[in-house]
Amino acid sequence: MGKKLTLDEVFDLAKACMLANGCDEANSDAVARTVTNAERDMCLSHGLFRVPGYAGGVKSGVARGTARPVAKRIAPGLIAVDGDGGPAPLAIQTAHEAIIPAVREQGIVAASINDIFHLSALWPEVEPLAEQGIVAMACCVAGSYVAPAGGTKPLFGTNPFAFGWPRKDAPPAVFDQASAAMARGEIQIAQRDGHSVPEGTGIDKDGKPTTDPTAILEGAQLAFGGYKGASLAMMVELLAGALVGGKFSYETSVDVGNGPTLGRHSEVIIAIDPARFGGDGFLDRGEELFDKILSQEGTRLPGERRFNNREITSREGVDVPQSLFDSLLELRG
Ligand code: NDP
Repeated sequence: MGKKLTLDEVFDLAKACMLANGCDEANSDAVARTVTNAERDMCLSHGLFRVPGYAGGVKSGVARGTARPVAKRIAPGLIAVDGDGGPAPLAIQTAHEAIIPAVREQGIVAASINDIFHLSALWPEVEPLAEQGIVAMACCVAGSYVAPAGGTKPLFGTNPFAFGWPRKDAPPAVFDQASAAMARGEIQIAQRDGHSVPEGTGIDKDGKPTTDPTAILEGAQLAFGGYKGASLAMMVELLAGALVGGKFSYETSVDVGNGPTLGRHSEVIIAIDPARFGGDGFLDRGEELFDKILSQEGTRLPGERRFNNREITSREGVDVPQSLFDSLLELRG
C-alpha cells in the first residue's frame, strides 16, 4: 500500500520539505525539480527517497540552503562553478547556463563544480545539454563505499558516470551508471523492503561475499565488472576529485554532531559541440549506429526506459511507499 501522487504534488511536497528545513526558494525549487524529474522517470532511488537526505543535509548544516552558486570562465575552455556549499541542483543549473554559450563558442568545455552536496542521479547533468545538441559527459565522487579491486575496505565512491548524445528526431541517448555493481540507494531500498541483492554487489565487514543489504552497507560495495569497474571508479576520483581541486570520496565524510555523514564534494562536466568538428553528419552517423543496435531483438537504447516512463507517470502519477510518504509529511511539519 502506498500513496498515489501527481507530479505536481510530488514537486510541492519535495519543495515544502526543503523550505521547512532551512532551504531558500531558489534551492528548494531546484531540488524539488530534480526529485520530481526522477519520480517522473521512475528513478525511485533518486526521487522523493532523496528528500530526507537533502533536507537533513541542510538542517544539520552540512549543506547551505541559501547557497548562491557562481560560474567563472577561468580559461576559454574551462568553467569553474563554486557551489557555495549548497545542494547540487542549483549549482548544476548554474553550470548549464555557463556551459551552453561557452561550448558553442569554444567547441569543447570542461566545467568543475565544487563545494556541492550531491545526492541525485547524474543524467540531469548531461541530458539538458544533449537536448541542446551538445555531447556531454559527467562524473561525480560520492561517499567512501566501494572496495578497490582485490581489497576489502571501502575506499572509492559509487562514482557515477553519465554520457549524453543528441539525436535527430528523438530524445537523446543517455546512459548514467554507478561504478559500483549497484547504486547505494538501490541497496538501501532493498534493505528497507527486506529484499536480498544479487551476488557480486558487495562483501560483509569481514570481506566475505554476501547478498544481505545490511551486511553490505556495514561492509563494502564492489565495483561492477571487477577490476575494470574499479579502474573507472578510480578515474572518477581523479577527474572529479584531483583534477578539479575537490575531495576524494574517502575525504567527503563529515561529523556535525551525529556521527559521520556524507559532506560536500565535487563533480566535472565535459561538453562538446559536435557541429564544431566541421561536419553536420554526426547526427545521421549516430542514428546509423542506433539502427544497427536496435535491429537486434532484445535491445534498447539507454535512457529509453526513463523516456517511456514519462508518458505513464504524467498520466497516472507515481506510487510513493506509505512509510516514505509519512516520513515526508513529518519532515514538512
Ligand atoms: P542502472 O544499472 O540501473 O542503469 C545504468 C544505465 O544503463 C542507465 O542509463 C540505463 O538506462 C541503462 N540500461 C539499463 N538496462 C539497459 C538495457 N537493457 N539496455 C541498454 N541500456 C540499459 O544504474 P545504476 O544502478 O548503476 O545507477 C543508478 C543511479 O544512481 C544513476 O542515476 C547514478 O547517477 C546514481 N548514482 C548517484 C550517485 C551520487 O553520488 N549522486 C552515486 C552512485 C549512483 P535506463 O535509465 O533507460 O534504464
